[in-house]
Amino acid sequence: MNISELFGEGLFNDQAMKTALPKDTYRVLKNTIKKGEPLTPDVAKIVANAMKVWAVEKGVTHYTHWFQPMTGITAEKHDSFVVPSGEGAIMEFSGTSLVRGEPDASSFPSGGIRETFEARGYTAWDPTSYAFIKDGILCIPSVFYSYSGEALDKKTPLLRSLEIINKGALRILRLFGDNSTGRVFSTVGVEQEFFLIDKWIFNERPDLVFCGRTLLGAKPPRGQEMEDHYYGTLKPRVSAFFKELNRELWRLGIYAKTQHNEVAPSQHELACIFANGNISADQNQLVMELLKSLAKKHDMECLLHEKPFEGVNGSGKHNNWSLATDLGENLLEPGKEPHKNYRFLVFLSSVIKALDKYGSLLRASIADAGCDCRLGANEAPPTVVSVYLGSEIENILNALETKTDYIPLQKKGINLGVTSLASFPSDTTDRNRTSPFAFTGNKFEFRMPGSSASVSEPNFILNTMVAEVLLEFADHLELKVKMGEDLEMAVKELVSDTMKNHKRIIFNGDGYSQQWVQEAAKRGLPNLATAVDAIPQLITRKSVDLFERHGILSRNELVPRCDIMLEDYAKQINIEALTMIGMIESRIIPAIFKYENELVTLSLGKKQLNLPIILEEDILKKISALTESLQKALTTLKNHTEKIHTQETPIKAASYCKDYILDDMNNLREVVDKLEKVVVNWPFPSYADMLYSI
Ligand code: ADP
Ligand code: MG
Repeated sequence: MNISELFGEGLFNDQAMKTALPKDTYRVLKNTIKKGEPLTPDVAKIVANAMKVWAVEKGVTHYTHWFQPMTGITAEKHDSFVVPSGEGAIMEFSGTSLVRGEPDASSFPSGGIRETFEARGYTAWDPTSYAFIKDGILCIPSVFYSYSGEALDKKTPLLRSLEIINKGALRILRLFGDNSTGRVFSTVGVEQEFFLIDKWIFNERPDLVFCGRTLLGAKPPRGQEMEDHYYGTLKPRVSAFFKELNRELWRLGIYAKTQHNEVAPSQHELACIFANGNISADQNQLVMELLKSLAKKHDMECLLHEKPFEGVNGSGKHNNWSLATDLGENLLEPGKEPHKNYRFLVFLSSVIKALDKYGSLLRASIADAGCDCRLGANEAPPTVVSVYLGSEIENILNALETKTDYIPLQKKGINLGVTSLASFPSDTTDRNRTSPFAFTGNKFEFRMPGSSASVSEPNFILNTMVAEVLLEFADHLELKVKMGEDLEMAVKELVSDTMKNHKRIIFNGDGYSQQWVQEAAKRGLPNLATAVDAIPQLITRKSVDLFERHGILSRNELVPRCDIMLEDYAKQINIEALTMIGMIESRIIPAIFKYENELVTLSLGKKQLNLPIILEEDILKKISALTESLQKALTTLKNHTEKIHTQETPIKAASYCKDYILDDMNNLREVVDKLEKVVVNWPFPSYADMLYSI
């Protein structure tokens, strides 16, 4: 099948709907998708039947509501279309089954909503994200909520935030005389990093199997210092994997676009072309699912953990974000003369102000134990949120602030000194790879999310905080215009004020440097160093007010979310500690004893023959000293780990893990990694085996 035929073949997309639905139904459904108009049961019934016919023709027998509970991954429960008919069977799919489902909610994390309310949970069809066929199952993207209507998932707040960003942005557009735009939504393009390692090697490492990262392992003689992996040629197995992955993604209507080797050995990246924020979040979930399942099919294992290996780069996920209209305009496009593009300046300023006011929330949105292993080191953004604008945009904003004239930068031509190569104008600003939130031409790139994260969280928070400021700006500008003020003058004044009050959030320098951490502290920017510091930001008075004001999440929904995140943090670290203890006690200590025993036997034998045993003694002494430290560090970790479950609240458990267990694990690892370098027949595959297995 050629690619254009293959593309979207497994997606009940616009084309499929048009073919399958009566004209009237199609029109109503389109209005629901585009304008958010409610669907009647009659229409749902016709859509359900058409969907079933379309799916059954492709050999599908089952359907599922596909949703995103607070576990971070997707959930599905398959039901067949089969219903009895006489003694036979027919395939049926009712409107009610399409619109609503009732999986048992009691085994999904609800952070206490279950105790306080009811155990029942419901899923409801999200018609704005197309249904698709995965593994022969018709998957219906859905939200998940409790008996009393609380959101139990990641999609609901995202959908709510899209409503509010539309409201805020439309009011700004109307001020500029735009009466044709019907809807504004966020656009999101995700770049996904991951590692691929050999499946057999993966299976030999309990830390990878249970925790997704190595808890032990001495550094290999060669890491990423040669800088030869980035953009290097794909190895044949990786290339075959990417080929199949691309086809599967294209089949699902996902524009898989860019693939390349990343910085660390065995590390890769896949970027898909941006889409509406809600769809992109669904698509990234599918990307992660497919990365995992196809890797297995190719006898590999895909690691999505943020820091699978010490000493080489970890994996992140860049969340590229902008605002677009239903007429296809990008509202963060500066155009040729950004300094005169007042609409652009309003939207840009709204992001700057939102980041300064609510940056801690964005930091909290991506906080977890995995991200803590990566953020703030020299490979990922620091834990301080700041915005990079580049010199051109910053100069424009500075001129507006100080009410001076802006002198546009001259675009110099670049001549490569080879006549056969085209000459082209230089960009007026370089890229900055160290900023957590960088303006990259016509979109912002949020670089803090971890590779395993769902992008729903950062996006619903980003949308909400920007919407809040847009609504504020709209109030302000509408009033000015009503009072007869010139809109452009009012915008200039607004941008100038925004700069005066919020420019501390703008930082164009090296985000990885220690000076920045100090400078940020001077500027009063929060530095939430760990997930345990960041997560409680979600439930401060200021945050609850923000989310409640816009109907995104209530306090009753936020508190459980915060608890789930803290519980996950503690659970993950608890599992890591137990895995580490298990690996050491059941495999590493016996291996050490075995080697010691061999050396002792050898030494005694040699001694009888009057042969020198200097080397043997030397090694034995080294091992003995290390095993003494091992015993101490192991006992400490074991004692502390036993106390995790006695902590009374999620925040106490998380803080306890951060303050004790992580240090204990680091201390223990240090000793064990030294032993790995001395003891022969180490019971686990080495870093070299893992990183260079493919
Ligand atoms: P990088 O230089 O950071 O590697 P790429 O150009 O490879 O970035 O990828 C950028 C990502 O940004 C892609 O997923 C792309 O689709 C996305 N993107 C481009 N324009 C927009 C936009 N207007 N809104 C959201 N995402 C966008
Ligand atoms: Mg990027």
